[in-house]
Formats: sequence, structure tokens, C-alpha cells
Amino acid sequence: MIGFLSADFAIDLGTANTLIYSSGEKDIVLNEPSIVAFNRLSKNIIAVGRKAKEMLGRTPRDIQIIRPMQDGAIADFEITESMLRILIKNVTPSFRYVRKVLVCVPQGITEVEKRAVRDSCEHAGSKEVYLISEPMAGAIGAGLDVFEPKGNLIVDIGGGTTEIAVISLGGIVVSESIKIAGDEMTESIKNYFKKEHNLVIGDTTAEKIKIEIGSAYPSEEETEFEVTGRNLVNGLPKSIISTSEEVRKALEPTLKEIVDAILRLLEKTPPELAADIYNTGIVLNGGGALLRGIDKLVSEHTSLPVHISEDPLKSVVLGAGKVLEDISHYSTVLIRGVRY
Ligand code: ADP
Ligand code: MG
Repeated sequence: MIGFLSADFAIDLGTANTLIYSSGEKDIVLNEPSIVAFNRLSKNIIAVGRKAKEMLGRTPRDIQIIRPMQDGAIADFEITESMLRILIKNVTPSFRYVRKVLVCVPQGITEVEKRAVRDSCEHAGSKEVYLISEPMAGAIGAGLDVFEPKGNLIVDIGGGTTEIAVISLGGIVVSESIKIAGDEMTESIKNYFKKEHNLVIGDTTAEKIKIEIGSAYPSEEETEFEVTGRNLVNGLPKSIISTSEEVRKALEPTLKEIVDAILRLLEKTPPELAADIYNTGIVLNGGGALLRGIDKLVSEHTSLPVHISEDPLKSVVLGAGKVLEDISHYSTVLIRGVRY
């Protein structure tokens, strides 16, 4: 009977989005931006997730909006802990207690950060806490057999970080992480319009342009669009017509850094595994994998086949969900030292 009353969760604590899978529902039960609004003076949390995102740019002085996971590490322990606690509470029905929580953490997480994540989950009432690295969960979510004695190259382009890892025999053999990903792409669009057109645009507009018009590789469907912002020179509203080619040009330097990081990792990869990757290719995860033509760009520069996973924004949490459902089978892929 006790099993019936418990709840088990897998959590992808991303720099941009937090997703939670529940083993009771066998599905994702929460998908919200990793954003917290809190009162600077009292330190009380006012809102988390979507509600906090809606407050962006419209807050009175005392309210601060932060993204505690930005840059892949846990920038603010206390706030991250509160956010985790609130989110876990939100998805736990009142008649259940939290038994197991599996959290996906960045590959390069420090011991202190691991402890902070574990403590947060315990404070949220969890009896057992497990950690798994994001690239590992993402690989499982993308359907790769991580136990095979065969190299798999997985690239996760998230909001704050791009994590690249070679996985074989249930472990991460080599990895690379750079603080350049989706947010930087948005930033480079903002900077481009400022520099080339004296046009200041907001984060939301720049992200929209990236998602709706952005591309990494030329295609037959080049388009024109109107973009409105503030004239850098006189401060007045201004509107211009831009093209998809321009947006691609804006994204180019950021994409080059991502491609270079993949090439660096390939150089570090032991030859046997490199030979496997030559056949299996690269799997792309994370929101950045949705940028049009990014597969072609990566493929052109690496001369390897590139596959975009079925649902790049959900691979990590779905992989973690799989692990959660069969934790003994996957025990060797968990991060050690923090298993209870
Ligand atoms: P994280 O795991 O760090 O939370 P996500 O994998 O959720 O990050 O990806 C978020 C990033 O993906 C954001 O920068 C967002 O703008 C970007 N993104 C989402 N959809 C698209 C799209 N269709 N094209 C390009 N970028 C996208
Ligand atoms: Mg992620």
C-alpha cells in the first residue's frame, strides 16, 4: 500500500527549462522555464516558472527575476533549492509522499553543487536522491544503448551551455562543456541588429526571430521579415525589413564556437571510439538542436552523419524517466558517491 502512496520523479534542471517526469503518471508533469521571481528585501519567492517569466521586464524595484541555473552551474544555491522544493511540491499530490528523486545535473558539476541538489531534494521530502549527468540521460532519452561497447557522440545545445560527450559501456569517456548555446545565439541576434542597423531589440523579440527565422545553413526557403525595436540613435521606435540570410550571418560566430567544441572533443576521443562514431554519427539534443539546418552545418564540418533526436527539448527528462523506472538496471550509469 505504501508504494501506492509514494511519488517518484525525474527532474531535468536545465539552464532554460525545468522538466519533471512522474513515475505515477508515466509522463512529463511539469515543463516550465527555470526562472524565479523573489523579493530582494525579504528574500521570499514570489513566483517560479512561467509565472515568473511573465514578470520579466515589468517588475517593481524590490522584485528580482533570476535564472538560478544560468551557465549550467548552480549560480545561486539558496534560490535553486527553493525553486526545486516549490516545483516538487507542485507536482506532488497531497496524499502522496516523495520517495525517489532522480536529478539530471551538468556533466562538470562540483561536489558542493551535488550536495546542494541532494539537500534540496531531501528538504522537499525525498527519501532517496539519485543524480545522473545530463548527456547520459539525454543519450538514453534519444534511444541510444549506452551500455554497448561502442562510442556514441552526444551534443546537447541548451540555453546556457553546450555539453558534448562520448559515451561507451555505460560511462562518459570524454566530454567538453562550453558556456555557449541558445542564449548566446539570441544575444548574437540582438548584437547584430544593434551594430548593423542601430536597432535595439529585446530578448523576447530576438529569441522569437531565432526560433521563427533563424537557420544555420542556407535553404531554399529564405524569407524577409519586419523587425521593430528602438532606434539606438534617437531612442524612438524603429522598424526595418531584414532577411533570414542576415539572421544566419548573426548566428555564424556562435555556431562556429559550438562546431569547434565538437571538433575539439573528436580530437580527444580515443581512436577505437572515433571509429565507432564515424559509423554511428552524432546525436543532437537540447533546444538548440531545433535551429534549422544545424544538423547540416555540424555534418559539413565534421564529415559525420548527424541525427536530431526525436524530441530534443525532452530527451534528457525522458531518459531520466526511463532510468527512474528501472533504477537497478541503470545503477552503474548514475553519478556515484551520492547514492543512498
Ligand atoms: P536547458 O536544458 O539549458 O534548459 P533547453 O534544452 O531547454 O535548455 O533549450 C533551451 C534553448 O533552446 C533556448 O535558448 C531556446 O531559445 C532554444 N530553442 C528552443 N526552441 C528552439 C528552436 N525551434 N530553434 C532554435 N532554438 C530553440
Ligand atoms: Mg538541458
